[in-house]
Amino acid sequence: MISEMTWQELRDAAAEDYGVILAVGSNEQHGPHLPLATDTLIALAIAKGVAERTRTLVATPLYYGYKSKPLSGGGQGFPGTISLRGATLVSLVRDLICEFIRSGFKKITVLNHHMENTNFTYEGIDLAMREVNDPSVRVISIDNPYATIDQKAIADMFPEDFPGWDVEHAAITETSLMLALYPELVRRDRIADDQAERHPPYDMIPAPPDTIPASGVLYKATFGTLEKGKNLYEMVVEGISAAIRREFGD
Ligand SMILES: [Zn+2]
Repeated sequence: MISEMTWQELRDAAAEDYGVILAVGSNEQHGPHLPLATDTLIALAIAKGVAERTRTLVATPLYYGYKSKPLSGGGQGFPGTISLRGATLVSLVRDLICEFIRSGFKKITVLNHHMENTNFTYEGIDLAMREVNDPSVRVISIDNPYATIDQKAIADMFPEDFPGWDVEHAAITETSLMLALYPELVRRDRIADDQAERHPPYDMIPAPPDTIPASGVLYKATFGTLEKGKNLYEMVVEGISAAIRREFGD
């Protein structure tokens, strides 16, 4: 963790060509059983796993993200869903990438774990790269950490047809990972399935109430298990580590 290093230790690590990984999450409702920082906590745990397998340091994560969308996170109507404007997130990512580079890092990974952040993180990276304009710097931008896993292995984990990542919110994946990584933060007695009455293939603004489940759980949380969490964690850490080895040669 960069936050626990001294400036000289960081300077030396950057000089030895260590990479840095920035986890980007959200502060968003995750149903009655998971904490608001679920996205950030999972991304941070994955980043720490990757740092154990590659020459990578873990940056202090971004605990806030872009606004929750009703179809993929329940929307902004839930107390505790505390979000950034898109322009703020773009600026945060841009500033941090520029600062990583100024500190000497040339291998940067941005690991996003909140669907709505996609494109804002990419834009922040792109603006920073234009600003710095150093061809020796490279960035891996990961919109969806689970895209790095063999999708057959994902399909095997789901008892029914895979519902799609948009409704995998406070559901099987996140419940399983939180059981495996932060068991003390899971309110086990409040795990319950839910689903919106309808899930249209477009957004309505404002969102009709029947497109948002009252609990904030968008699919089947009860299918989450500790074992699935452990397996998924191992697969995703290896998937991202493999990407870093491939692109950065570490
Ligand atoms: Zn989430």
